[in-house]
Amino acid sequence: MDFYSGLRKLHQGLMSGEMTSSDLVHFSLEQIEAVDSQVQAFVTVTDELAKSQAAKLDVRRSEGLLAGIPFALKDNMCTQGVETTCASRILKGYIPPYSATAARKLEAAEGILVGKLNMDEFAMGSSTENSALMKTHNPWDYDCVPGGSSGGSAAAVAAGMVPYALGSDTGGSIRQPAAFCGVVGLKPSYGRVSRFGLVAFASSLDQIGPITHTVEDAAIVLQEIAGKDRRDSTSVEREVPDYIAGLTGDIRGLRIGVAKEYFSPAIEEGVRTAVEAAILQMQRLGATIVEVSLPHTAYALSAYYLIAPAEASSNLARYDGVRYGYRAEGVENLLDMYRKTRSIGFGAEVKRRILVGTYALSSGYYDAYYKRAQQVRTLIAMDFDAAFHDVDVIVSPTTPTTAFRFGEKTKDPLTMYMNDICTIPVNLAGLPAISVPCGLSDGLPVGMQLIGRMYDEATLLKTAHAYEQAAGFAPMRPALGVHA
Ligand code: GLN
Repeated sequence: MDFYSGLRKLHQGLMSGEMTSSDLVHFSLEQIEAVDSQVQAFVTVTDELAKSQAAKLDVRRSEGLLAGIPFALKDNMCTQGVETTCASRILKGYIPPYSATAARKLEAAEGILVGKLNMDEFAMGSSTENSALMKTHNPWDYDCVPGGSSGGSAAAVAAGMVPYALGSDTGGSIRQPAAFCGVVGLKPSYGRVSRFGLVAFASSLDQIGPITHTVEDAAIVLQEIAGKDRRDSTSVEREVPDYIAGLTGDIRGLRIGVAKEYFSPAIEEGVRTAVEAAILQMQRLGATIVEVSLPHTAYALSAYYLIAPAEASSNLARYDGVRYGYRAEGVENLLDMYRKTRSIGFGAEVKRRILVGTYALSSGYYDAYYKRAQQVRTLIAMDFDAAFHDVDVIVSPTTPTTAFRFGEKTKDPLTMYMNDICTIPVNLAGLPAISVPCGLSDGLPVGMQLIGRMYDEATLLKTAHAYEQAAGFAPMRPALGVHA
């Protein structure tokens, strides 16, 4: 048994009686036991809960595609009764009284939660090095980062510990780690999946999405978690199409846009070569390749690093030592308690964002920074609108490089921020995008990003699936920790 061949196989195994849900949970826990001391993806393992849930399901077998199958969640999704830390000292010990809608939907589908996954503190980062709890290692090379901020989610899936996981993506945090770990990562359109119970980082950008081995698995999981939720007023009232039925393998006549702005000299040679080969492959499948332009791409990073910190500074004001998790001791008065709790509780990157965000929002600077960033955001969304007149999907590398080494970018926040140049514009525009493995460069996985029209996850999934079937790159199995 393994988790690499996709959810449908596991489902069939359960249906035929070849395996039970308890077998799957047992296997997942065994894998965690075997490799997680090195990968360090899990911050919490809910072994007892998982075992008892599986035992119940074994007696009462059920039909759903996710029923009886283990999964794990990034630790910024609230889970009732199970600690939720956001990999921050300030939330250590916080046990939510309710579960995120996405988590509840997977539970309703009778999926089995086996644990919570490491991440950059409050999802701020691109390497998971900002976790206050531990360092997650890339299953392809333990000396490399798994990407971030959903690094634990991507690493857990890549290392075969769970068949799928959920991550969250504010500026690339599902797609970038998926690319670094050789798995599939889907960021749905803003509003497609409820954010209720997702600890807020930048509320106008955050989205929950699946990290899986195959594109079909991404379709299966999205099918389950998508849809309007009355608890999240930004979730959209739109029909959720049958994503799985849409995976026909036929992309003849599809127009795929190549934006020159995403193939700048910042893109490493090995990454460029792999993505270009993938584009040719899609052309061979009958797609038409069209050159498009997204002229404001160069301003996306600057706009994002004002908007995201501005929203974060407001969202993170609630951690005051009174209501959640950690509270500093030995304080003199209320103000001192706030100050000490926040000084000790937050890590350096989180503090940096709160400072930048507070500054950008302060009177006198608001117009110069925050307001202008919002105007740039509109221009970026308009670029995409114009391009989608001519094409159905836009292709780019997911990241400029493959996974980098620990410490390589931690000294200079700007080089770390550069990692997201291909993914950030997509969040600013609210669009859906997927990262699919498209080969290796020097033994490390490369991700190709496909960007779709608003709410058109179906076309994205169909295109990614057709490519994946033709190319045969997924699922890729890392040699766990060593590469030539
Ligand atoms: N790396 C980006 C940041 O640090 C994106 C993070 C994310 O998508 N959560 O903000």
